[in-house]
Amino acid sequence: MKRRICSYDMVEVPDESYVVTDDIGEIYLCDSRCLCIWAVLLATKPNLDEKIKTQAVTLRLPNREEMTFDNISGLALWATSNALHRAEIERERDKMLFKLAFNKTIQGTLRVSTTTARGSDHVLAIYDNDEAFTRLLEHSGLDADTIGSLKGSAELAYGS
Ligand SMILES: [Zn+2]
Repeated sequence: MKRRICSYDMVEVPDESYVVTDDIGEIYLCDSRCLCIWAVLLATKPNLDEKIKTQAVTLRLPNREEMTFDNISGLALWATSNALHRAEIERERDKMLFKLAFNKTIQGTLRVSTTTARGSDHVLAIYDNDEAFTRLLEHSGLDADTIGSLKGSAELAYGS
């Protein structure tokens, strides 16, 4: 298979990319961001060729679904809201995809941190020991299963 290069940032596009088809050929774009920037740059270009301005374009989405637009402006408008919507979804996913990590520090305290999908680590709290953490957990209002699993993780990390 020939390499497919993104028309915006010139990198090789992943399998799940966007493909724009017009009269001349196919244009590949990595993701919703590349598609949006490329389409807006083209649609707002001064002295844009009349033929490009008015011809219909077909867009193939990463899920293979196809959409047709009357012209590049229509595609640019759709691509902008699509990119903003995707960014919002990704932000939501990052918020959800964190996990708690428990570590015993050199000082013998229990360190509780969160790790997000992007790999950043945030310390939430430091407890004297795992019992101090467990005592607070029991007043947290969480359901018994969640308390049980958090307590288990903390005990395991603390080694008691
Ligand atoms: Zn790209």
